[in-house]
Amino acid sequence: MLEIGLTGGIGSGKTRVADLFAARGAALIDTDLIAHEITAPGGAAIAPLVAAFGPGCLRPDGAMDRDAMRALVFSDPTAKATLEGITHPLIRSVTEARAVAIRAAGQHPYLIYVVPLLVESGKWRGRVGRVLVVDCHEETQISRVMARNGFTREQVLSIMHRQATRAERLAQADDVVDNDGPPDALPPQVARLDALYRAQGAVPAAPGGEE
Ligand code: ADP
Repeated sequence: MLEIGLTGGIGSGKTRVADLFAARGAALIDTDLIAHEITAPGGAAIAPLVAAFGPGCLRPDGAMDRDAMRALVFSDPTAKATLEGITHPLIRSVTEARAVAIRAAGQHPYLIYVVPLLVESGKWRGRVGRVLVVDCHEETQISRVMARNGFTREQVLSIMHRQATRAERLAQADDVVDNDGPPDALPPQVARLDALYRAQGAVPAAPGGEE
């Protein structure tokens, strides 16, 4: 089964593009959603987080306090390593368990992993057959995230500065969806890639994928 890593900067339109692929029959695994699931009340990361950071890392409802943890790891690299040491292996094992189930069910033509930090993590490139980048200008990202999240320009820029640059992401892309235009511009691009991925999935993928 062809497996694709879909990535893009914050606000580039990953979710929107992934949903269009799902509507065409693709299997989707969204690693950001998994990160939220494991840090929701009763999630697999909650007990180890409390053991490492104390009960203050939780909100009253028992979910990880994302704002508090974001502020903590921003100023403390050791805390960042501890947090990632807890969450990343759990995200990886849930992701892999879902992939195993999807491959075994054999009901989808191909599988797309949505991985916001694919380029940054460095490990994903070898796990997928193709990398699909959702691309737009930085100014487009800024105005979308300001509108979606109610962030200031400075808040969006500080997130973007911790992500790969547009050029770094494009350098890793096998395929690109241009999302600078209106939403109507997306379905034809997704349809073209859907046809390509279905055709590729019809033959066994070469070991290690293609470059
Ligand atoms: P990501 O998942 O990459 O952060 P989203 O898919 O959530 O990005 O898109 C970011 C925001 O921009 C959302 O509010 C979305 O509805 C909006 N958006 C995405 N693509 C377009 C587009 N082509 N035109 C207008 N708004 C868009």
